[in-house]
Amino acid sequence: MDRANVVVIGGGVVGCSIACELSARIEDLFLVEQSPRLGMATSTRNSGVIHSGIYYPPDYLKARLCVEGNRLTKEFCSAHDVPHRNCGKLVAAKNESEIADLEKLAENGRANGVEDLRLVGPERIREREPHIAAMAALEVPSTAIVSAEELVKAFARVATDQGAGVVTNARVVSLEPRADSVAVGIELGDPSDPHSLSRETMEARCVVNSAGLYADEVAALLGNRNYRIYPVRGEYAEVVRGRADLVNSLVYPVPHHDRLSLGVHLTRTLWETVLVGPTARYVAEKNDYEHDRLPLEEFLREARSLLPELRLEDLHLAYSGLRPKLIPPGGQGMADFVIARDPACARAIHLVGIESPGLTSAPAIARVVAAMVAETLE
Ligand SMILES: Cc1cc2nc3c(=O)[nH]c(=O)nc-3n(C[C@H](O)[C@H](O)[C@H](O)COP(=O)(O)OP(=O)(O)OC[C@H]3O[C@@H](n4cnc5c(N)ncnc54)[C@H](O)[C@@H]3O)c2cc1C
Repeated sequence: MDRANVVVIGGGVVGCSIACELSARIEDLFLVEQSPRLGMATSTRNSGVIHSGIYYPPDYLKARLCVEGNRLTKEFCSAHDVPHRNCGKLVAAKNESEIADLEKLAENGRANGVEDLRLVGPERIREREPHIAAMAALEVPSTAIVSAEELVKAFARVATDQGAGVVTNARVVSLEPRADSVAVGIELGDPSDPHSLSRETMEARCVVNSAGLYADEVAALLGNRNYRIYPVRGEYAEVVRGRADLVNSLVYPVPHHDRLSLGVHLTRTLWETVLVGPTARYVAEKNDYEHDRLPLEEFLREARSLLPELRLEDLHLAYSGLRPKLIPPGGQGMADFVIARDPACARAIHLVGIESPGLTSAPAIARVVAAMVAETLE
């Protein structure tokens, strides 16, 4: 049986960032990913925004790790040539009551340590975004965009250079606590070709469960049924290239009171297109990206409240992603990230409900996990 100090389960942005952070100090570390490539799930099906941290209650991990992650992600991108742009964003208010919401949002952001927030009027909005209709806006300079795919690859590349073993087509199918380790059962190969499959067991002193949408099921391999993840689909449309100049950077509405999402927003990408979305809708399956997609009219209706010049023929459907929500359908409020040891097996660390701002927070999450792993290996 192979031995490892650490097995990281899941090669999304969070797992890769953890492998990058840990492999600087720890030998015999493996990252196992069930898909043929890294980052194929939520980590590359998002808006690619490096969030500022204005939205989350100040006592939430999301607030602290987003603000820290904003800085760390930008530093990592600059150091490793990951395409990104410090474009800033506007949160646009349509009426007096939304202006009051913006003031509260700014206050919350400042309490979280977000710097240089300011409320601006129509003149400044016109200067930045001449096609946007708004009475006032919150200017958020620290928001940026990044190539999520390149970010995942760069974390994995640094981890590999530092000696981590990164294995794809490797699905964790069992976890068994032993006296001073966890036996990690791994199915290797392509599940669509049963002849290619083989089984291996690795004995790990510490296991990190960063399995995204499946983190509840991985925790359940240890008998831990405390978590349930509900997939919430976010769909995107895209503005055709010839009309992408309608938006210069990022424009968001005032967030919905249901807190399910930040509301359909406009994101000028690094590829000079504009994304409209994501929407938010609970779906039954964790791999249901395309069934029953929303019509373009739905995106147009939402987007036109910010961008009245947009026309139906300016839009086509784009990709979708699934948020790993901890709040069930009909539930209220915002759940925080869960980063916790398994109650029955302290060598296992679970990361559950790592929805937005998980892309931004990944390197800050990695630091929290690194401290927990160091304690385990002491
Ligand atoms: C529509 C949408 C928009 C978003 N926009 C933003 C944004 O702009 N900014 C931001 O900061 N965040 C955003 N997010 C959130 C962000 O994308 C996620 O928080 C982040 O990608 C989570 O990364 P992860 O590594 O935890 O999960 P994932 O990317 O899902 O990775 C988990 C990996 O684990 C693997 N896995 C699962 N089970 C097993 C197993 N048994 N064995 C081996 N491997 C396994 C999966 O195949 C997967 O690759 C958005 C999310 C969505 C859905």
